[in-house]
Amino acid sequence: MKAVQYREVGAAPEVVGIPEPEVGPGEVLLKVTAAGVCHSDFAVMSMPAEQLRFPLPLTLGHEGVGVVAELGAGTTGFEVGDAVAVYGPWGCGACAKCAEGKENYCLRASRLGIFPPGLGAPGAMAPYMVVDDPRHLVPLGDLDPVRTVPLTDAGLTPYHAVKRSLPKLLPGSTAVVIGTGGLGHVAIQILRAMTAARVVALDVSEEKLELARQVGAHHAVLSNDEAPEAVRRMTGGVGAELVLDFVGAKPTVALAGAMAAVEADVTIVGIGGGALPVGFGSLAYEATVTAPYWGSRAELGEVLALAHAGAVEVHVETYGIDEAPKAYERLHAGKVKGRAVILPQE
Ligand code: NAD
Ligand code: ZN
Ligand code: ZN
Repeated sequence: MKAVQYREVGAAPEVVGIPEPEVGPGEVLLKVTAAGVCHSDFAVMSMPAEQLRFPLPLTLGHEGVGVVAELGAGTTGFEVGDAVAVYGPWGCGACAKCAEGKENYCLRASRLGIFPPGLGAPGAMAPYMVVDDPRHLVPLGDLDPVRTVPLTDAGLTPYHAVKRSLPKLLPGSTAVVIGTGGLGHVAIQILRAMTAARVVALDVSEEKLELARQVGAHHAVLSNDEAPEAVRRMTGGVGAELVLDFVGAKPTVALAGAMAAVEADVTIVGIGGGALPVGFGSLAYEATVTAPYWGSRAELGEVLALAHAGAVEVHVETYGIDEAPKAYERLHAGKVKGRAVILPQE
């Protein structure tokens, strides 16, 4: 079968032929319907060899949906033909964090060599993939698979980031979304669906700001040195109770800190190498800075429930498997509007 692989440190992804996987005891074989393209793949593909914790080649794709094609010996809970979404941040299933469904924060995954599909284990950018355990599947129901696949990361990650700050997002509050790409344009919709906060979007391109307005941002402003002042003006000098930074680079974390209100949450989701110092006088009083990773199994169910309720609509560009390298190029160039999705059966 064809697969989109990262094969050599520093090289671009390639479409190659690989054997179809076989399903082992307790596992699930999925016929993949769709796989999302996430900016984090560039973070992995720009790591020097000594930082990579898994061997290459790697089949990419950590956002996946599909149909159950085969159940391994003893696998229960799903039937052949069920449409499912893959929960990506696989953990051990047994530690204290996994017991809470927070496999994204598994205490043993690293020691046991457990990696998410597409980020160490073979991912979703191939016609078939193996899911290690049925607990990593959530039923899709009648959701459209292509528009839903990004919710497994571009939905789950912002959902988790917003949910932890909900008590601060009272009516009259302000939430800023920096970077309105794959994650950011979903974050705006989650904020609108779950809070009464004023939502301000920041991006570097007018096209992305247009998408931000279209999906519900009250204000969309260019991301530059003047943005903190613009946010202060909109908020009567108060600043934003939540700043979500989906870029995480040096300039954006500085903007995020500069627009934070007293007791705000500054949540750095982007893997852009920036860091925001915390110390008396460097931020508004009692502002909290955090860098979360993905979300819990329960939260993926909640995100899909939001989609069932019609509260989030992902904007997607679709590509056949042979065009996947082009999708990565467009994402790298900042040209993708919403999320690029690969259709491995086409
Ligand atoms: P994306 O490329 O789709 O979106 C990034 C957006 O940021 C684009 O719209 C781009 O125009 C905008 N941007 C770039 N520079 C900017 C600046 N200086 N100011 C404002 N906007 C700017 O990427 P994505 O797939 O949505 O991922 C976003 C980030 O989140 C990436 O760094 C990715 O690695 C990271 N990520 C983190 C997690 C996590 O669990 N922490 C999960 C998924 C993705
Ligand atoms: Zn991702
Ligand atoms: Zn665990």
